[in-house]
Amino acid sequence: MGERGISIYVHVPFCTRKCLYCSFPSAPMGKGDQEAYLEGLSKEMGSWSRQLRRPRVHTIYFGGGTPSKLSPGGWERLMGDLGQSFDLSGVREITFEANPESLGVDLLKCWTEVSPGPLRVSLGVQSFLDRELRRLGRVHTASDAVRASEMVLRAGIPLSVDLMFRLPGQSLRDFSYSLKMAVGLGVDHLSAYELTVEEGTPFGDMDLELPPDGYGFYRYLQWYLGRRGFVQYEVSNFARPGAFRVHNLRYWLGGDFLGLGPGAWSCIGEARYGNHPSLGGWLRLVEASGRGTCCGEILEGARRRAERAILALRTSFGWAPEGRDDPLACRLEPLMGDLVALQGGRYVLTPRGFRVANLIWEILLP
Ligand code: SF4
Repeated sequence: MGERGISIYVHVPFCTRKCLYCSFPSAPMGKGDQEAYLEGLSKEMGSWSRQLRRPRVHTIYFGGGTPSKLSPGGWERLMGDLGQSFDLSGVREITFEANPESLGVDLLKCWTEVSPGPLRVSLGVQSFLDRELRRLGRVHTASDAVRASEMVLRAGIPLSVDLMFRLPGQSLRDFSYSLKMAVGLGVDHLSAYELTVEEGTPFGDMDLELPPDGYGFYRYLQWYLGRRGFVQYEVSNFARPGAFRVHNLRYWLGGDFLGLGPGAWSCIGEARYGNHPSLGGWLRLVEASGRGTCCGEILEGARRRAERAILALRTSFGWAPEGRDDPLACRLEPLMGDLVALQGGRYVLTPRGFRVANLIWEILLP
């Protein structure tokens, strides 16, 4: 993970319509938006390329929003611009997020043709039950998700799906059904997230009947996927052996990251930069200065060490202390055994530690 070079995250800020729980920077695509977005990206890439001197790129991740909303012609332009600004000759992994309703054979073919490295698709499924999908305000149905998954797998592309748990009215049996469907389809990677109800979203104003907590769902997730041969390599991520996603591991294990597009974050050395979250705000900044950056900070000292430790502890590779008297290691000591273990000089969370990870982060933060 310590190789020189960067990883790139590109945020695609378009969605068919907003899901009821969504707080991500995304909106339906208006007339002319794709063109303006691609033009802005091209400028932002050029600006970073000049500063970082056309760096070598290890991994690329297109997230959203819904990357599958961009047209094949849009993708050809975007990848051409990326290749102009960055050295893509050593790309080890390129991931496209997609939503089932907007993924078609033409787009998959285009992604295969324009990808400078091994391609992955990450599909936002969330549930294989139509009533849950309707409740979340998702556009797609369960059969759309099955169709899209089969299309990706038929094309020989490794597939990950995202699922959610602790949904309104969801039982363990409901969640188990979605998990079994995903595994049965043949995914080699699965990410699962507990629903968080954020202020400012439609769910934030509703009286939702949520299961009391996500603990039982998460414990079942670990148990079920473990029995099916998946390895938990991060708090929310499970993969068949050898199918860990390199891009995310580089982030958790401290690699440099360049974020492009509205709402994207960059982590370069000790500096953090955040882009303006709205398309209009980001475009105005890019027009004025070449970049959509609207905030930034330098992370130093105890905060930087705590952040690095937390990110590393999110993974099954764990975190190595800086010597015997590392104050963060001292804070972990009372948790040894049940929640934390020491493996080859690195602190790692136990399966139970993963289940209460948020409490452990609180102990580590300065
Ligand atoms: S598809 Fe994802 S990004 Fe788009 S509205 Fe739904 S949750 Fe938000």
